[in-house]
Amino acid sequence: MYLKGVGPRKADMLKKLDIFTMYDFLTHYPRAYENYSTVSKIADVDAGETVVLVGRMYHLEQRVIRHNLSIIEGTLDDDTGRITVMWFNQDYLMRKLEYGTRMMIIGKIKWDDWRNELVVGQVINSTILGAHEQPSLGIMPVYPSTSSLPQSFFRTAMKNLLDKMPPLPEILPQVILKQLKLMPLDLAMHSIHFPKDQRYLDAARRRLAFDELFLIQCGLMLIKRQTKYNRLGIQHEKNGELVNKIFDSLPFELTNDQKNIFAEVSRDMEDKLPMRRLIQGDVGSGKTAVALLALVKAVQGGYQGAMMAPTEILANQHYEKFSKFLSPFGIRVGLLSAKVTRTKKMRDEIYKQISEHELDIVVGTHSLIQEGVRFAKLGLVVTDEQHRFGVVQRSVLEKRSVLIPDMLVMTATPIPRTMSLTVYGDLDVSLIKEMPPGRKPIETTFKSIRSRKRVYEFVREEILKGRQAYVVCPLISRSDSETLKHIDPVVEVYEMLSEGIFRDVPCDILHGKMKPKDKDEIMERFRAGETRLLVSTTVIEVGVDVPNATVMVVENADRFGLAQLHQLRGRVGRGSEKSYCILLSNNKTDHSQERMELLQSTNDGFKLAEEDLKMRGPGQFFGEAQHGLPDLKVADVFRDVETLIAARDAAEKFVTEEADLNYFVELRKNLALAYGDKFSQITRD
Ligand code: ADP
Ligand code: MG
Repeated sequence: MYLKGVGPRKADMLKKLDIFTMYDFLTHYPRAYENYSTVSKIADVDAGETVVLVGRMYHLEQRVIRHNLSIIEGTLDDDTGRITVMWFNQDYLMRKLEYGTRMMIIGKIKWDDWRNELVVGQVINSTILGAHEQPSLGIMPVYPSTSSLPQSFFRTAMKNLLDKMPPLPEILPQVILKQLKLMPLDLAMHSIHFPKDQRYLDAARRRLAFDELFLIQCGLMLIKRQTKYNRLGIQHEKNGELVNKIFDSLPFELTNDQKNIFAEVSRDMEDKLPMRRLIQGDVGSGKTAVALLALVKAVQGGYQGAMMAPTEILANQHYEKFSKFLSPFGIRVGLLSAKVTRTKKMRDEIYKQISEHELDIVVGTHSLIQEGVRFAKLGLVVTDEQHRFGVVQRSVLEKRSVLIPDMLVMTATPIPRTMSLTVYGDLDVSLIKEMPPGRKPIETTFKSIRSRKRVYEFVREEILKGRQAYVVCPLISRSDSETLKHIDPVVEVYEMLSEGIFRDVPCDILHGKMKPKDKDEIMERFRAGETRLLVSTTVIEVGVDVPNATVMVVENADRFGLAQLHQLRGRVGRGSEKSYCILLSNNKTDHSQERMELLQSTNDGFKLAEEDLKMRGPGQFFGEAQHGLPDLKVADVFRDVETLIAARDAAEKFVTEEADLNYFVELRKNLALAYGDKFSQITRD
């Protein structure tokens, strides 16, 4: 089999779109569709519309404007009216067209000032029709493409491929197909490219989305089964003297949710199967205390614990809290971060302490999963703010150890259930709903940039009362880009404030481009209360805990996502004083207004996360590229919620009942191969 119309040059262009094989081409799905299912009357068309017209062509004329621009003009007549049609640089058409040729024209109607009439200004498709030939109408695919590969190329080549290829074998088990009323694969593949009508298109999308989601879910189920059910983990000791002592000396009484989840975690850890648990809890819900107890539980039985944080600042914060609190009990806590591994000597030293079990608990960033880190007896891995680590990183850490450690994942990003099914499908989920007592709700207000002066006067008053404040800015330095150039970056806001209204107040600036050592020192000074105002970027977003900070001002608040703003404001309201979050923005669009109002009206992170997802999509929600979501071509984890849940349920049954997923994986591979390795033949043409 070869693909007509694809020579070596086209093949090279396709490679730019990551299309290397026939199968890649086949699954290069349309990004949109144009609906050309009805013929319009010339008398009815209006400027701006894209229409299908059928009529006869008269008064053809060709003009050469410049050496590289020629225009063909003609008049199309369909008995209801006449309209001028213009083609640019399509000289060959002139040879094919005659006075009175019957044609179908798909094009965009424009008002032509010079002629003072409507014209077809942009012809998308023109087809010559026989005297009695019916135009072939329908939904036309629009492919993701580059400027050098026109839509017509994709449409023609795809049609050729679909017409010639043998029917695709079905890869889903018949039971699933029947039960969920899914379209057969072959029909779905034809229909996603050239749907007969909207119903076919919807069914095809659903089927192909199901395939993707089902495959992922089966994968996740397999991982879960392999690690959770098929591999033996560590049976940690029951909570004994050490755990109880530390439990009793916590500076607060745990909330019921915290107690229940620790009990759940304890059960998991004592079980002979490895723990794979996710704790979801809004900012400030007290996940760290649960993690601490779990780590102590591991240490009590003679194991080591690792705590992985997404930033140096957070790793540092956990380290300091843990070591201060735990060393009186003889628990040895260490920090593995860029700071302490600067030289080879330092690195070797800490690696040695880890591998010779001179440390009981090691806190670190992703440096914990670097080659070379070997734990003597790793019993528990806690990952904080997990959404920054992908599935892959999770499994790498598992391999760092001979025994299979338990794993506890904590996230402050309230991931909606549907989302967690995809990203964390291999984990059991616990939810902390209750907040520690005595918290006053954060008062969130939305102010125009014109009130900036008054806002900062208010901040000053709070600082003079003994509180501390954050100011958050979206950018580090001024940007040249058109959309960002009006935004005051953190450096300038810091100057403006520290040399202006806060001249006599100790201020500091913090952003991601600073050296880890400097960041730590700045954070430490703020935590100690030496600095009163911290102007920063979102590096303070996750986990940072300074209870005396009660005011946060967010500059250009409309630049942030809802979930992110919620995380940010979670930095205040951590003590017993009333806290404020003031969102500054000069964006007055309804959309931005609506988002700000949502933030004002609710403190429910889950609700905000759902909204954020709807507005911005999963990529934005999780931050660039690192969201750990698998690459999906058809499915959309938000729009296809029902399909996702169906895929999840089907996978759950399938993986446990059929026990063997190999045949499914094999089929998928064969399919890719069948259409894949033949591609070289095409390109030789
Ligand atoms: P997060 O879930 O966002 O990681 P933390 O674990 O950092 O939250 O806890 C937020 C703050 O609440 C910390 O200062 C912590 O000491 C405090 N805290 C945690 N649990 C309780 C509790 N049960 N009662 C009172 N304060 C608590
Ligand atoms: Mg935390």
